[in-house]
Amino acid sequence: MARRLLLFSLYRGLPKGLSAYQRKRNFNRTPEPEGRVETTRTHRFVVHEHHASHLHYDFRLEMGGVLKSWAVPKGPSLDPRQKRLAVMVEDHPVEYLRFRGHIEEGNYGAGDVAIWDVGRYELPGIDDPVRQLEAGKLSIVLRGKKLRGEFHLVRLEGRARQWLLIKGIDEFAEAAQKNAATTRVVTKDRPPRPSQPVHQRSRSRKVNNIVSPS
Ligand code: MN
Repeated sequence: MARRLLLFSLYRGLPKGLSAYQRKRNFNRTPEPEGRVETTRTHRFVVHEHHASHLHYDFRLEMGGVLKSWAVPKGPSLDPRQKRLAVMVEDHPVEYLRFRGHIEEGNYGAGDVAIWDVGRYELPGIDDPVRQLEAGKLSIVLRGKKLRGEFHLVRLEGRARQWLLIKGIDEFAEAAQKNAATTRVVTKDRPPRPSQPVHQRSRSRKVNNIVSPS
């Protein structure tokens, strides 16, 4: 008993672990991995396309030995102006990075799960992403096939589980729709082009000064 207490206090400082994940599932009835908290320090990510009662996307980042997970109803966007609601859900096991399959009716999260994107992520200038998350803001650089470049996760004020997933402005940013209103995101840093060559403009200004001194 004393030994159990000692182990408990030793592990108390570690991430919350997988108890919520495991409590929600019956591993005799779901193909999902039971998993365990890992000691690996790699930074991988996966986005699952989850056809549950409502289609959503699950965004998962490997850190602290688990996958920190968010359900993103509309899915991630490459458009920095499309701030996507991301609801934090229970930590998933790192093994879940490779999970895809069908969860039978009657189980938690029943429906088809596909891998929508997978890759690694980088943490520019950050050594402890878990602490950043606890503080409510994490900026990462994704190296996936669909999701690339900088992304920000920002927790909404006063909300424990509601975050926004926002594409950073970089060369991987894209307008959501190819029309005049949205392509401005990509081109806004370009200086306006002069309508006439510069020497012609200055000459016409001189002429104007003579003709109309007002
Ligand atoms: Mn899900």
